[in-house]
Amino acid sequence: MNDNHILYDIAVIGGGINGAGIAADAAGRGLSVFLCEKDDWASHTSSASSKLIHGGLRYLEHKEFRLVREALAEREVLLKKAPHIIHPMRFIMPHQPHLRPAWLIRTGLFFYDHLGKRETLAGSNLVDFQAVNSPLKAEITRGFEYSDCAVDDARLVVLNVMQARELGAKAVTRTRCLGAKRVQLNTLQNIWQIELEKEQGAYQIQAKVLVNAAGPWVAEFIQQDLHLNAPYGIRLIQGSHLIVPKLYDGQKAYILQNDDQRIVFAIPYLNKYTLIGTTDKEYLGDPNRVEITDEEIAYLLDASNDHFKTQLSRKDIISTFSGVRPLCDDESDNPSAVTRDYTLALSQENDGAPLLSVFGGKLTTYRKLAESAMGHVQAFFPEMKKMWTASSVLPGAENFSSAEDLAAQIQDKVSGVSAELAARWVNAYGTRIWKFIQQAASVHELGQDFGHGLYAQEVDYLVECEWAVSAEDILKRRTKLYLEFSADESLQLDQYLQALHQRRAQEDAA
Ligand SMILES: Cc1cc2nc3c(=O)[nH]c(=O)nc-3n(C[C@H](O)[C@H](O)[C@H](O)COP(=O)(O)OP(=O)(O)OC[C@H]3O[C@@H](n4cnc5c(N)ncnc54)[C@H](O)[C@@H]3O)c2cc1C
Repeated sequence: MNDNHILYDIAVIGGGINGAGIAADAAGRGLSVFLCEKDDWASHTSSASSKLIHGGLRYLEHKEFRLVREALAEREVLLKKAPHIIHPMRFIMPHQPHLRPAWLIRTGLFFYDHLGKRETLAGSNLVDFQAVNSPLKAEITRGFEYSDCAVDDARLVVLNVMQARELGAKAVTRTRCLGAKRVQLNTLQNIWQIELEKEQGAYQIQAKVLVNAAGPWVAEFIQQDLHLNAPYGIRLIQGSHLIVPKLYDGQKAYILQNDDQRIVFAIPYLNKYTLIGTTDKEYLGDPNRVEITDEEIAYLLDASNDHFKTQLSRKDIISTFSGVRPLCDDESDNPSAVTRDYTLALSQENDGAPLLSVFGGKLTTYRKLAESAMGHVQAFFPEMKKMWTASSVLPGAENFSSAEDLAAQIQDKVSGVSAELAARWVNAYGTRIWKFIQQAASVHELGQDFGHGLYAQEVDYLVECEWAVSAEDILKRRTKLYLEFSADESLQLDQYLQALHQRRAQEDAA
């Protein structure tokens, strides 16, 4: 059938974590769902985060108790949903008595330990750095330790989209929504007529409910593409990170307090690196073009150098990334204090087709946000099934016992797989790994070797099953191999992909 004639229950605009989560939840409740993303899944804010599933210790200072309680509880839910891409992590906060007194931190950690349901994550404790081999400067002698989790943010998005598709959703990348208008379907029903544009041309679909999950573009989409008034303002707050060679051994992260009352994380990243971030800076430019500034680099290097024995300079920086938080404008003067909570706005001008817009939201709370979105549209779909996502796993977490078990099984079955490669596969694909390993008994049977443990069968799988189109999709978001690949190696991968896409297009045409 021509797409122009399809009437979906819900069309979701925006393939970041919020759009992906809503699409998956809606599809699992039996609704027909369309999800479109103008670029690649997670190509904007949702791949530029600090990659934490966390309660947000510092939000307690801003009295965001609702958000923190929900986020703390979500850590345990999401750990079960996706144990391959989410891992518990201990965080160490060096004590800086001139910034926050010990009683304040202890009170905060008491709330952190008890506000949300905690089943597997360990509670907080004091640390004496003199008794351990500390990477911190000698004058930092005491601190606190607590639990949160680390996540592969871009993969959290793609796994939700995969789940949506497996439940019947139509999900397309590189498809921009140009606009939508309310039209009368019949005397009883008003629907959305939605204009879409992809490389091959423009087309239309129809939907009963339109969900605007355009992240940093949420307000612009309402005003410029729908020609309506946005119910809330949006504040774009830039945040940047540095990737540097591993600053210290071990798997614990550090939460560093700064003189400006902000905090900066130093997080172990991909075994070889430390991720240092983030900043909070009002952003007024085009969200497509956000880049780290000189001032942010200096700020993050200073924060690290003030605490760690290993001193960093600009030449140590391997890579950087920046994103903009699409926050609901609460008119705070201080960018760090703008609420991190989300707001959903349902509008239905003159009983017309409903529009649901997402303002704000964190990776950590995406599942609860999606549940809340479904609550908002329930009245339009009385047959809709009940909440289901808390107890279901994401693709790759089916029959997942432990990362170690799965890595051992892989190494047992496929000769030549190093421990490092097995760990990368497990942490990206979980039990879906067998989809591309298939019958291979050795790495040499996995096809062309692009270097750094990337073989053709993985690339083909990513194209076939995870919407990968370019080398950047594969190296930056589906894997994090961009930190290893040279420009020549990336070019080789792009050439392979171009040939693959051409072959597929010819097969489709035949
Ligand atoms: C520096 C930083 C650190 C962070 N750290 C954390 C953290 O550690 N933990 C945490 O929980 N949260 C964190 N967050 C917050 C979290 O990353 C964001 O709240 C979340 O990713 C926002 O997701 P989104 O889906 O709303 O937006 P996005 O990920 O930006 O997705 C919106 C998508 O909509 C698409 N789009 C827009 N217009 C159209 C259109 N017309 N047609 C089609 N597609 C369109 C865009 O291309 C984009 O991909 C952080 C954010 C930042 C910036």
